Amino acid sequence: PKEKIRILLLENISDAAVQRFKDEGYTKVDKLSKALTEDELIKEIKNVHILGIRSKTRITKKVLDAAEKLQAIGCFCIGVNQVDLAAATNKGVVVFNAPYSNTRSVAELVIANAIMLIRRIPDKNMAAHEGIWMKDSKGSYELRGKTLGIIGYGNIGSQVSVLAEAMGMKVLFYDIETKLPLGNAKDAKTLKELLQKSDVVTLHVPDTPQTKYLITKNNLRYFKKGAILINYARGEVVDLDDLSKAIKDGHIGGAALDVYPWEPEKNGDQFSSPMQHLPNVILTPHIGGSTEEAQENIGMDVSNKLFNLIEKGITNGSHTVPALALPSQENVHRILHIHYNKPGVLSEINTLLSRNNINITGQYLKTNDEIGYVVLDVEKGVSKKAAALLKDVKHTIKTRLLY
Ligand code: NAD
Repeated sequence: PKEKIRILLLENISDAAVQRFKDEGYTKVDKLSKALTEDELIKEIKNVHILGIRSKTRITKKVLDAAEKLQAIGCFCIGVNQVDLAAATNKGVVVFNAPYSNTRSVAELVIANAIMLIRRIPDKNMAAHEGIWMKDSKGSYELRGKTLGIIGYGNIGSQVSVLAEAMGMKVLFYDIETKLPLGNAKDAKTLKELLQKSDVVTLHVPDTPQTKYLITKNNLRYFKKGAILINYARGEVVDLDDLSKAIKDGHIGGAALDVYPWEPEKNGDQFSSPMQHLPNVILTPHIGGSTEEAQENIGMDVSNKLFNLIEKGITNGSHTVPALALPSQENVHRILHIHYNKPGVLSEINTLLSRNNINITGQYLKTNDEIGYVVLDVEKGVSKKAAALLKDVKHTIKTRLLY
């Protein structure tokens, strides 16, 4: 029953998400504007079924151990590294996030930076602020007809590709996986080929051991003279000492950075970087994905995933409990059963139910290394009994009955 489900949303999660829960009939929704500390959470979380957080709330094993009813954590943000995923897996707590909600926001700003830098706007802007008139066309270009090199052709890289072609750019991309080129984009055979041919290079790779210092003086020398580098991916992908030297000696014509090897924790904290006060450099404080639209998309995406879980048992997009896509339950009750992935659990469940004359009308299973997730549809009249029986199956972590 919806009125019994307690939903706690921290860190000022969008009002749209709060309203949606209420519109759907969930009455026990509490919203706080701040993050809670570990001790505060341990006190609060006991009776919470659904917890919504953003990136500041740390969900530790201690917090999870104190959570008696917790079914899911919705991370209303892109990352999930604030949650101890191993501990959540062991507790059978589903963890969702919104990995693609800010793709467009990042892609737009990359194009904007490319235009600003190829026109050398940062220097002209600075001069105007200082009362200096700097009207000239030397070294200023249009994007049209230039080549954009995209390193990492995933969600963001491929969106940038589409926008760049719409601006009349040629697009080359490099990815370690085989990717379908969008529009007229072309696949570079090697990273070196991409760097040698591009007027603007933009990075859209994840943070992995292979992408750490992907761009250093060793390959900055392959860039065309005067080429531009944009990093809206992760801070450690570029060696900033090498990049700042390449800008000072004029080999690289400009750069836009949004991410840094070290970033301040909060607004107002001191920020320092070898890229400060260099010509034609735009520095932004990791806001590539920070727009009102992205926040709203995040709210919709994560709340959809939470509704699908509470109402249908669907775990698509989960980082902990195995991801299962399920049909809606019709004229049946659905039982969710999460267990340690040990041999014999499924056969014990089936034997137990058949011995009690309970007919299973639908059954779905998915496992990962640690745990298994089985969903059973049974006739309405026997669902309570079936759910009670499943609680005693060996290796059970948790059981829940949906109506
Ligand atoms: P994604 O996983 O969809 O795409 C990443 C692509 O990089 C994949 O196609 C992958 O195959 C490729 N790749 C991996 N290793 C590679 C390598 N060594 N060389 C070449 N290609 C490689 O990710 P996404 O959603 O497009 O995000 C891309 C990056 O942008 C991530 O690092 C993400 O953290 C970052 N990001 C930053 C902001 C911001 O605010 N600045 C916002 C969102 C995402």
